[in-house]
Amino acid sequence: MCIFCKIVNNEIPSNKLLENDDFIAFHDLHPKAPIHVLVVPKNHVDCFQDVSAEMMAKMTLFVQEVTRLTGIDKTGYRLITNNGDDGGQEVHHLHFHVMGGAKLPFGHLSDEPHKNM
Ligand code: AMP
Repeated sequence: MCIFCKIVNNEIPSNKLLENDDFIAFHDLHPKAPIHVLVVPKNHVDCFQDVSAEMMAKMTLFVQEVTRLTGIDKTGYRLITNNGDDGGQEVHHLHFHVMGGAKLPFGHLSDEPHKNM
């Protein structure tokens, strides 16, 4: 069983923010922003490439609720999902990073030439 399935099943602890029948949101263990929350579907889906439109529609509303709860709905935020090896996905259970609480740097999303990657 993957690590996020264990969190969903309460087999390992998490700093939970929000939960409903379909999704759970908890604070990232190694935050990269003042607010860094992970949104995870309770049913295991490996990655964004495999997610259904139905699940995404529900997850959109859940993510929006997370941004309201953390107060970043008005100030802005970044929503990221890493997909597969080249995308840098480490946990192979679909999750969205909801990051905000400060003006976020662009890092590798800036105008770095591709040849340097
Ligand atoms: P990714 O590289 O997109 O797969 O991101 C995985 C994220 O999960 C990283 O930001 C980790 O810090 C986070 N993470 C891993 N294990 C835990 C955990 N037990 N509780 C909270 N966050 C975790």
